[in-house]
Amino acid sequence: MRLDRHHQLFRESVRAVLERLVLPELEDWEKAGEMPTRELYRSLSEEGLLGLTLPVDDGGLGLDLGYAHIWARELGRLPAGSPAMSLSVQTDIVLPLLAEEGGEGVRAAYLRPAVRGELVAALAATEPGGGSDLAAVRTTAVQDAEGLRLNGDKAFITNGSVADFAVVLCHLLQVGADEGGNRPDGLDSLALLLVPTGLPGVRQERHTGKLGNRACDHGRLTFTDVLVPEENLLGKPGSGYEALTRVFTRERAFLAAVCTARAETMLDRATAYARGRVVLGRPLLQHQAIAFRLAELDAELALVEQYTDAVFQRLEEDAAALRQASIAKLRASRLERESADLLLQLHGGAGYLDGGPVERGYRDARAFSLAGGADEALLHLIAGHPRTGV
Ligand SMILES: Cc1cc2nc3c(=O)[nH]c(=O)nc-3n(C[C@H](O)[C@H](O)[C@H](O)COP(=O)(O)OP(=O)(O)OC[C@H]3O[C@@H](n4cnc5c(N)ncnc54)[C@H](O)[C@@H]3O)c2cc1C
Repeated sequence: MRLDRHHQLFRESVRAVLERLVLPELEDWEKAGEMPTRELYRSLSEEGLLGLTLPVDDGGLGLDLGYAHIWARELGRLPAGSPAMSLSVQTDIVLPLLAEEGGEGVRAAYLRPAVRGELVAALAATEPGGGSDLAAVRTTAVQDAEGLRLNGDKAFITNGSVADFAVVLCHLLQVGADEGGNRPDGLDSLALLLVPTGLPGVRQERHTGKLGNRACDHGRLTFTDVLVPEENLLGKPGSGYEALTRVFTRERAFLAAVCTARAETMLDRATAYARGRVVLGRPLLQHQAIAFRLAELDAELALVEQYTDAVFQRLEEDAAALRQASIAKLRASRLERESADLLLQLHGGAGYLDGGPVERGYRDARAFSLAGGADEALLHLIAGHPRTGV
C-alpha cells in the first residue's frame, strides 16, 4: 500500500506507545503466565489504538488499512507474541465484524465500549471436536419465543477466560430442528452470535500449561441453555458463512503482518549474532552454510512482505482476498517458524536455555501455524476446496 508521511508518523508514535506501555512489563507478564488484558486495553484505547479503522460514529478513527498493517507490524516487533495474539482478536477480528454486521443495539452495548477498552472480546469458533472443519461445528442456537438458546462447547479461544463477550460460531435452528439426534452438518445454517459471558449458563475456564504465548489468555467456553437476545445475531440469517469468510480474511492478513515482523526481527538478531560469534576462527556469517541460510530466509521475507502488503491493498479496495490472505498467512507463519529455529540454532546451547527471547521466540512461533487456520487447512483452501474447511 502507498504509505504517506502520516503513516510514517503513526508508525513512530505506535512504536513509542508500545515501548512505554508494553515493553517494560512484557518479560514479567511472560514469566507470570498472564497479562493485565483489561488495563492494557484501556491504556491503548486512550492512545486511539483499539479502533484505528473503525467508523468515527462508533468511536474509531476511520483510518485506512495501511494503519492496521502498521499496527500489526509494530505488535510483531515486540519480543513476545502474547500482546499481538490477544489484541489481534479485539482490533482486527471481532470489532470490525461488529462494525460490519452488528445492529444499533450491538454497536451501542458492545462495539463502542470495546473500542474504549472497557470490554474484552473473543471469537469462539473452534470446538474440542475440531477447528479446521466448519461442517463439524456442533454448537447450536435454537430460536424460540424468548430468544436464542445456545448450547455447545468451544476450546483454545484467545481471551477466552477473560473476555466480557464472545462472538460464537453456531448453527442457527428453529425449535425442534435439532431434536432426535439430528445434528446439522451443512454450512448454510452457520451463524455468528454475540454472547455476553456474564449470562447464566456460560462457563469460562482458562487453559494452562501452554507451549508459547504464555501471557496471552486462552480459554474454554461452555454454553448450557444460554438465553441470548435475538438482536445479538450478527448479520442476516443465512449470511453466517459469508461473514465468517470476511472475518478470516482480515484475520489472516493481520496475522501474516505480525508473523512477517516477528520473522524480520529474528533474522536481524540472527545476522547480528552471526556477525559477532566466532567459530573455527571466523564469524559464523563468514561460513557459507550460515550466510546462505540467512540469505534464503531474507529473500523469502522480501517476498512475503510485498505479498502481504498487496493483500492489505486488496482489502482496502474491498476486493475478495480470502485465498490471498491465506497464502500470506501460510508463508509468513512458516517463515516465522524457520527464522526462530535458525536463531536458536545459531545461539547453540545458550539458545536452548529457558527464559530468554530466543527460546521464547521459538515457542511462540509455533502458534500461528495452528491459530487462524492451520497450515493444512489453508492448503486445503488454496487447493480449491473453499466451502469445506476454514
Ligand atoms: C494459540 C492458539 C490460539 C487460538 N485462538 C483461537 C481463537 O481465538 N478462536 C478460535 O475459534 N480458535 C482458536 N484457536 C484454535 C485454532 O483455530 C485451531 O487449533 C485450528 O483451527 C485447528 O483446529 P484443531 O486444533 O481442532 O485441529 P484439527 O482441525 O483437528 O486438525 C488436526 C490436524 O489436521 C490438519 N488438517 C486440517 N485440515 C486438513 C486437511 N484438509 N488435510 C490434511 N490435514 C488437515 C491440521 O492442520 C492439524 O495438523 C487457537 C489455537 C491456538 C493454538
